[in-house]
Amino acid sequence: MKVHPFINAEEIDRLNTTLAKKISSDYQNILAEKESLLVVITLKGALLFGADLIRKLTVPIHVDFVRLASYGAGIKSSGEVRFLKDIESSPEGNHILVLDEIIDSGRTWDFLRKRLGAANPKSLKICALLSKPSRREIEVTIDYLGREVEDKFLVGYGLDFNEDYRNLKEISYLE
Ligand code: 5GP
Ligand code: MG
Repeated sequence: MKVHPFINAEEIDRLNTTLAKKISSDYQNILAEKESLLVVITLKGALLFGADLIRKLTVPIHVDFVRLASYGAGIKSSGEVRFLKDIESSPEGNHILVLDEIIDSGRTWDFLRKRLGAANPKSLKICALLSKPSRREIEVTIDYLGREVEDKFLVGYGLDFNEDYRNLKEISYLE
């Protein structure tokens, strides 16, 4: 398989800047005084996206993590979401923004939305850097989206192939 450059680091940065501006301006109005936005980063894929995006936010935040796995080894989703690590803060009474680097079948976000939503957060939204609408199996609404992409298997900027490529600064596709 060959690695083909797809979205360079400058474009990723531009997408992150646009997302962060919109999120900051929205939550500036939503958050009460002394309230922080609870940003939930989905491991491992959104590690780099999360680290970059939160540094651009201008509202107060707290950070937490969940770990899910839908892809096993290889380039095909197993079709089943495995929940491996929960957040450590209580969702109750918090404004929660989940960060995922890509929405594919929609299963991960559908699962998290139900799970975190059941615990009485004040609000619950999703921000995804990328979305592959042609792959959707469960219809989901994406509150903040960087851009749509065609159906390619992506690596880099947090995205892996058998754990390789996560640390690449740009996003490429394998073919
Ligand atoms: P979903 O549950 O929406 O099908 O998939 C969500 C997760 O699957 C993403 O957060 C990501 O971790 C993984 N995923 C989806 N598309 C790709 C891809 O093109 N490449 C890689 N490496 N992972 C992907
Ligand atoms: Mg992910």
